[in-house]
Amino acid sequence: MQSGRLRLGILQKILISFLIISLVPLMILAYMSNKNLSDTGLRAVSAAEQMGREDLRHTINVGNTSIEDSVRALDRKSTEAIELRTVELASRIADFLHERDKDVLTLAAVPPSAEYYLQIYQAAKKDVIVTDTAPRSRIERKGNVALEAENPENRTEWRHTPPVDFRRVSRPLYREITFVNLDGKEKIKVTNGAVSFGGLLDVSDIRNTYCKAEDYFHHLERLKRGEIYVSGVIGRYVPGWLYKTNEGLKVKPESAYAVRENPQGEKFEGLVRWATPAYDAEDRKVGYVTMALDHTHIMEFTDHVMPTDEKFGVLSDGGSGNYAFIWDNRDCCISHPRDFFICGYDPRTGERVPGWLSQSMFDKYKKSALSLEQFTATLPSFEDFSQKKQGASEQVKDGKVPLDCRILDHAPQCQGWHQGTEDGGSGSFLILWSGLWKLTTYAAIPYHTGQYGKSRRGFGYVTIGANVDDFHEDAYVAKGKIEKLIAQEGEEMRRANEKARNFINKSASDNRKMMTMIMVIAGVGIAGTSIVISLNITKPLRRLTEKALDMGRGNFDQSIEVTSQDEIGQLTKTFNEMAKSLSELDKMKSEFVTIASHELRTPIQAMLLSISGVLEGYSGQIDDEVREDLLLARTGIERLMRLVESLLDLSRMEARKTALTVSEVSVGTIVERAIAEVKGLSEAHGHAITLDMPPDVPSIEADRDRIIQLLVNLLSNAIKYNPEGGAIILKVERAVNGVSFVSADSGYGIPASAQDRIFDKFFQADSIISQKVGGTGLGLAISKEIVQIHGGSIECESPLPEGRFPGLPLGGERKGSVFTVTLPLDRAAFL
Ligand code: ADP
Repeated sequence: MQSGRLRLGILQKILISFLIISLVPLMILAYMSNKNLSDTGLRAVSAAEQMGREDLRHTINVGNTSIEDSVRALDRKSTEAIELRTVELASRIADFLHERDKDVLTLAAVPPSAEYYLQIYQAAKKDVIVTDTAPRSRIERKGNVALEAENPENRTEWRHTPPVDFRRVSRPLYREITFVNLDGKEKIKVTNGAVSFGGLLDVSDIRNTYCKAEDYFHHLERLKRGEIYVSGVIGRYVPGWLYKTNEGLKVKPESAYAVRENPQGEKFEGLVRWATPAYDAEDRKVGYVTMALDHTHIMEFTDHVMPTDEKFGVLSDGGSGNYAFIWDNRDCCISHPRDFFICGYDPRTGERVPGWLSQSMFDKYKKSALSLEQFTATLPSFEDFSQKKQGASEQVKDGKVPLDCRILDHAPQCQGWHQGTEDGGSGSFLILWSGLWKLTTYAAIPYHTGQYGKSRRGFGYVTIGANVDDFHEDAYVAKGKIEKLIAQEGEEMRRANEKARNFINKSASDNRKMMTMIMVIAGVGIAGTSIVISLNITKPLRRLTEKALDMGRGNFDQSIEVTSQDEIGQLTKTFNEMAKSLSELDKMKSEFVTIASHELRTPIQAMLLSISGVLEGYSGQIDDEVREDLLLARTGIERLMRLVESLLDLSRMEARKTALTVSEVSVGTIVERAIAEVKGLSEAHGHAITLDMPPDVPSIEADRDRIIQLLVNLLSNAIKYNPEGGAIILKVERAVNGVSFVSADSGYGIPASAQDRIFDKFFQADSIISQKVGGTGLGLAISKEIVQIHGGSIECESPLPEGRFPGLPLGGERKGSVFTVTLPLDRAAFL
C-alpha cells in the first residue's frame, strides 16, 4: 500500500545521513569559529576602546587638574607680583612725597629770598615721559637680533626685555614756590620759571588761589615750627565724553587726555601744596613757605605702568582696565589714564565737580531740590554699592564723570580698596568687571605728613587693574595643546579601533567564505563518496530486489553473481541458496500437485461414474435415504473434482506448462459465452446480469477459452458472494492499448484488510460464506495467472463508490465490489 510519507531509498538515506553526519558538525564548527572569531575580536576591540576612553578621560582629568593647578599657581604668582608692584609703587610715591617734606623744611630754614627760591625752582626738576603719539620702539641690539645670554650657563629660561625708547623731558617739580606773610599776602612768588614781581595775591582769599579751590592759608595759622601742611590735589576738572560702541566704551576726541584713546586731549593740570611756617633770626614767625608740587610728577608714577608683559609703556590703555591709578585719602581719583576720571574743581566757582553717580542715585538727585554738588555732599559713603547699578547717563552726556569712590556706587571695588587700605595695608581681589575677571590690587601710600597722618591709609592708595586671563594665558595655551593632543589621540584611537573592527569583520567574512568553500567542497566530496558507496551497496541490493520480485512472480530459478565477501555478498549467497531451495521445492510441489491431481482425478472420476450409475438405477432400485446420501456424496466428490482440476490447472499455469491457443477473439462472443455459462447459477440466486458493452469494442488476441474461464470466475464470484436477488453488471470498454472488463456486483463486498491477499491461493475473505457457496480459494489465483500470462492486469475495489453503477442495489449488507481486468489488444504484451 502507498502511504503519504516520502519514501526514501537506501541511496538517498545514506546520502542524507552522510551529509548530516559530516556537514552539520562542519557547519556548527564553522558557525562557532566564525562567531567566536568575530565575537571575541569585537569584544577585544570594545574592551580596548573602553580602556582607551578611560585613559583619555583620565588624561583629560589629569590635564584639567594640572591646568587648573597651573592656572591657580600662575594666577597666584602673577597676583603676588602685581601686589608687590603696587606696594612698591605706593612706597615710591610716599618716598617722593617725603622728599617734598624735606624740600619745604629746607626752604623754610633760610631767609625768604626770591633769588634763592628761583634757584630752588630751577634746580628741583624731574624727568617726565613725553606722551606724544610717535610710536616707541624697544631699543634693538645688533641689528634686531634678540639678545641672547653670552654665557651658555645663563641660557636656561633666559628672558630679556629690551628697554623702551622713552623720550623724557625735565620738568620742574614745583609749579609755584611762594613766601606768604602772616596775613596771607604773597611776598615772593616763583612761577613758570620766573619770579613774579607783580600780581602778588592775598591767598587768605580763596578766590585768589588755584582754581579758587585752595584753602590752605587757614590751615597754616595753626602750624607750629617744623610742622608741615600738605594739601590735596587741586586742579581744574577736565571733562570727557564716553560713548558706547560694539567694541566697548570709546572716548570722544574733545575729551580730556586719555592715553591711547585720546592722546591729544587736554591734560589734568593739578598741584599739591606744601607749606610750613618761616621764622626770622629772632625766631619770630614771619610767614609761610609754600611749594606747589606739579601733580604731573605724581601721575608719572602710575601713568606708564602696565601690569602686562610690557611692564612699562608710554601710553597705557585706558579702555582695557590694565593700568595703575591713584586715589587720595578721601577716596577721590587723583591719577588715571583717562584724565576726565580725575577729581577736579570748577575754576569759576572753586567748587568740586561732583562725582559720577549711579543712574538710580542720579534719579534720586533729580527728585531732590538740591544742586548736584549739594546732593552729593549729603550722600553717605560706600552705601549699597553694586555692579547691578549703572552709571548715570546724564553725567556721561555732560562729560562730567570724576571718580569719587565714596559715592561711586556702581563700582563695588571702590569699597574693597577703601576697606583694604583702612589700616594702611595692601592686597588684591578678583572682580568680574565688564564680563572679564579682573584682578585689582591696592596698597596704601605710607605718607602721613600733615592731614595725611589722620589715618593709617596715609596719602591715599595705589590700585592696579589687570586681566586675570592674561596671567594664565600660557596655561590655557598648554591646555589647548593638551586638548588638541587628546583629540588627536582620541581620533587615532577611533581610527585604530575602526581598523581593528574592519580587520575582524573582514577576517570573519574571509573565514565565512573559506568555511562555505570548505563546506561546498566537503559537501560535493561527501555526496560523491556517498553516492559511490551507496551505489556499491545498493547495486547488489537492487539486483537482489529485482531477482526477489521475479521470484515473487513464481520464477524461482534465480542466481546472482557474488562479487564481494561482505554482508551484501553474504546476503547474495543466502539469496542464491534460498532461490535454489525454493526452485527445487517449487518443482517438487508442482510435480507433487500434478502427480497428486492426476492420481486423484482417475479414482474421483471413477467414483463419480459409479455413484452416478447407482443413482441412474443401473444397480437396481435404491430407496430415498440411500439416494439422499449418494447425492450428498456426489456433491462432495464433484467439489473435490473441481478442486483437483483447479489445482492442476493452476500448477500447470504456474509452471508455464499451459500452452495458450491464441487467436483473434471477438470480445462480444466471449462475453456472451461467459454470461451464458453462469446464467443458470445467476438465475438460481435470483440475480440479474446486465451487459454493458459498446458496439465498437475491438477484438483482442488471446486464448479464447482462458478468457472465458477468467470472466466466468469473476461472474460466478459476483453471483456467489451476493445476497439473493442482487444484480451484476459486466461492463466492457476500450482502454488505452487494450480492452477492460469490469465485473461489478451488489454483493457483500471485500473488507479492505483482505483486498491485498484476495489473489493468493486458498485465500478466502470469509471462510463461512465461501464454505457455503462451495468455494475453493483458487478462482482468483487462476484468474490472475490468466491475466498475467496475457500481459494484462487485474484489480479489485470494494466497497463500490455510491453512484458509480446506478443499476446496482447497494446498502445494508450489500457493499458491492468491482473487479477490473485489462487485457492488451495483441500478443506482443504476453509473458
Ligand atoms: P472461491 O472459490 O472461494 O470463491 P476465489 O479465489 O474465487 O475462491 O475467491 C477468493 C475469495 O475472494 C472468496 O472466498 C471470497 O471470499 C472473495 N471473493 C471473490 N469474489 C468476490 C465477490 N465478487 N464478492 C465478494 N467476495 C468475493
